[in-house]
Amino acid sequence: MKSSLVILYHREPHDEVVIDGKIHYVPKKSPNGIVPTLKSFFADVNQGTWVAWKEVTAKKKASFEPKVSIEGEGNYNVLRIPLNNQQVKHFYHITSKEAFWPILHSFPDHFTSETTDWENFKEINRLFAEAACEEAADDAVIWIHDYNLWLVPQYIRELKPDARIAFFHHTPFPSVDVFNILPWRDAIVESLLCCDIVGFHVPRYSENFVNVARSLKPVKILKKQPVEGHMTPVGIALAEPEMTSQLSYKGQVVNIDAFPVGTNPQHILNVLEQPETKDRLAQIKEELQGRKLIIAAGRIDYVKGNQEKLEAYGRLLERRPDLHGKVNFVMTCVQAAAGMRIYKTAQSTIEQLVGKINGRYGKLDWMPILLFTQPIPIHHLLAYYKAADVCWTTPLRDGLNLVAKEYVVAHGGKDGVLVLSEFVGAAVELPEAVLTNPYSLARMDHAIEEALAMPPEEQEQRMSKMYQTVTNYDVKYWADRLLDQFKNLKHETVSD
Ligand code: UDP
Repeated sequence: MKSSLVILYHREPHDEVVIDGKIHYVPKKSPNGIVPTLKSFFADVNQGTWVAWKEVTAKKKASFEPKVSIEGEGNYNVLRIPLNNQQVKHFYHITSKEAFWPILHSFPDHFTSETTDWENFKEINRLFAEAACEEAADDAVIWIHDYNLWLVPQYIRELKPDARIAFFHHTPFPSVDVFNILPWRDAIVESLLCCDIVGFHVPRYSENFVNVARSLKPVKILKKQPVEGHMTPVGIALAEPEMTSQLSYKGQVVNIDAFPVGTNPQHILNVLEQPETKDRLAQIKEELQGRKLIIAAGRIDYVKGNQEKLEAYGRLLERRPDLHGKVNFVMTCVQAAAGMRIYKTAQSTIEQLVGKINGRYGKLDWMPILLFTQPIPIHHLLAYYKAADVCWTTPLRDGLNLVAKEYVVAHGGKDGVLVLSEFVGAAVELPEAVLTNPYSLARMDHAIEEALAMPPEEQEQRMSKMYQTVTNYDVKYWADRLLDQFKNLKHETVSD
């Protein structure tokens, strides 16, 4: 049976466990993150397919089983594209992370094109498109995720001219001046314009895409609309008052959508109720002995602004000796994937800074910073969120930032302070946070001081509004809204 929904995502949606020498494909243990949400789209379909890549050695390739089903999740299969380690290295670790990632996050200084193997990137994208077309029913929706698969839409359109193609960017989309640094910009935009709908987190990103398309191709704007709903239309760095929602190119209609992914509040609240989370929370509170706690959670990545934050913390302790012994800063800074050379410098910079600050101010009974470089389990992280007086999340650039939303949920709208960078997608939804500019030392200094001194009434006032936003526009809202769009999605043509 062919699939009515095909999702293309670079990661597999399952874990592999070996029992008595036999591989079992089981649902991922953690119901956190985007994967469970994407899988929920299969709930209403008779048959679906998830396409991902899988690293396979030459020895194992002959016996490799591309299609697997997940135990207990019967209505979709996973089709894995076998890649050897060189293909993975060039596709994922180099082209994606050394060329696209810095551009997407507006860091042209980190961009390098010389290491990119463009032919390998094209080939892997073509394999994804072929796999999708093989599985898709004629009227299927084929939903592609993220910049790793930018060229897939065009390959699909060539193979299946009437396919309904949707694309979602989980990252920011940069301004035209930055995007056009990519030497492959023409091929990328030509491919994205083969979609029936292209989605982004916030209107700024979609407007950036429209401007890129207008600069490179003779597109026609068909519809514009004011930005409505819960997203702040003006007054902050990423605000946009108006967005293009439809354009046409070569006689094909391209719909443009901007809506931020939500979090799963009920899951967070359930985890907080579990005895092991409560025990961990009680333990953290005891260890704090009345000291204030600041939490920062995220990956090692220069876009996350970890260095800027640590420097701001160092300045805080220098300015405010009265805070010595009165505040703890817990920072999780974990590797996204092993072996990415671009993150090596970022990691050693963080470790050096933490060492410098702890070395300068630490005492036997007070360590200013606790750094985790290994991921901490979600119930521990939620216990830290709940215990934290301040969540300090100030990336230089971030597509959305789920940590901010998770912190808001963990505090139930009652207390806590969220210090949030203006340059993350979530800032457009959460203007009640203490918004700050991580490029400005003075703004960073002011924001953390304001957060530590905020009276309880003001905390509640701000957090209750943010709690309402985050629980109203949760991940289910995002998914339902998109499902609705997919139901009505047509591959439309217009006369130019
Ligand atoms: N996270 C985690 N353990 C950690 C640090 C982070 O489980 O030690 C989770 C965090 O709860 C959040 C996700 O990782 O759900 C990070 O998402 P975000 O959107 O903030 O950043 P991304 O990593 O996607 O850029």
